[in-house]
Amino acid sequence: MIKTSVFKIQIVCPGCNNYHAVSGIVDTDICRNCGKHLNVNGVLIDNMFGFMDREKYVNGYLSGGIEQMGGAGAYKLEYTSMPPYCEECFAVIPEDTITAVLDSGKPYSCAACGHKMPVRKADGALKEFHPKAVGVINDSSSSDSGKAEQDKDSLLVYKCMTCGAALELNDDTKRTIQCKYCDNENYLPDALWVKLHPNREVQPLFLVMELSEHDLKASIDYFLNVTPLSIYSRHFENFIRSYFERPFLSPTFLSWLKSFVGAVNNEQINFNMDITKLQKFFYSNLKLGLSSHPVELKSTAAENGLGIPADLQLLLAADTNEAVRLALSKNTDLAKATVQKLKQDPSESVRAEVAKHKTGFFGRLFGS
Ligand SMILES: [Zn+2]
Ligand SMILES: [Zn+2]
Ligand SMILES: [Zn+2]
Repeated sequence: MIKTSVFKIQIVCPGCNNYHAVSGIVDTDICRNCGKHLNVNGVLIDNMFGFMDREKYVNGYLSGGIEQMGGAGAYKLEYTSMPPYCEECFAVIPEDTITAVLDSGKPYSCAACGHKMPVRKADGALKEFHPKAVGVINDSSSSDSGKAEQDKDSLLVYKCMTCGAALELNDDTKRTIQCKYCDNENYLPDALWVKLHPNREVQPLFLVMELSEHDLKASIDYFLNVTPLSIYSRHFENFIRSYFERPFLSPTFLSWLKSFVGAVNNEQINFNMDITKLQKFFYSNLKLGLSSHPVELKSTAAENGLGIPADLQLLLAADTNEAVRLALSKNTDLAKATVQKLKQDPSESVRAEVAKHKTGFFGRLFGS
């Protein structure tokens, strides 16, 4: 199953203290402000996410920012599990086309506006960042698109401060250039340097991974079983909020959702994430405009959800789509009133399904 994660990464340049937008998941990059080589990989692998398991975080559906300020390795990360999009017109890139895009080896061309984004297949550096990565869309580290657009007809020259000779500049020019005529060194002024290396906006990087159902479940389990991770509940909440603002469906998301709504708190561990609270937040969002949500979303929640509020259960039990009611009738964590309602269902398959499991104390004790 394909999952995409969207990253916007800036690292603080130790040379000039400015935020530098990285051009990709790479070993090194060059600061556009001062020309210093930056150890990007060091920050991505060692600093970013701190003590947290990077892979487990990226495998889940979360959205949020992490910022580490001051000192070496300072960075700013914006992360979301929402689908990938064109950076120019924000048109969503269908997840089922991504594999073909990566295999083609050609830049991704937006169907809506024609904007092109470079594509990079997984290599060593990428596999080190995430072992299940299959590629990145919009990683401009190996292409020219990240470099300054220079007018090919006009010549950019700088007059040597010592002898006055005209020195030709291009975007490969180093901050300090040696005069070809008098050998003296010239330090390029800021204005000229910025013209050669304009600071571009922080570009989104779309990391594409091939994940299994197990990876998705393990990601949730991780947050439930590691003590200091309660602070990340906000990232789950952020995701749920943005999901209901711009809903999308993919087999990978539905698989994750199944584990999410069916997860149980680890009562032995204090200060871990409270999944019951997050599930409630999901259910309350689902209930708003319930009829407009896709059948697959409602069915997945109806069949696997634990602790679905009684009023939402009754709404699902009254859904116009039989598939939703059939899914609900397979759920063993239902209120008495819901079961009663399903027993009266017009559909024979729903009535047959709900008759299979006994609810209440004995039902849970002996299973279905
Ligand atoms: Zn710098
Ligand atoms: Zn576009
Ligand atoms: Zn000179």
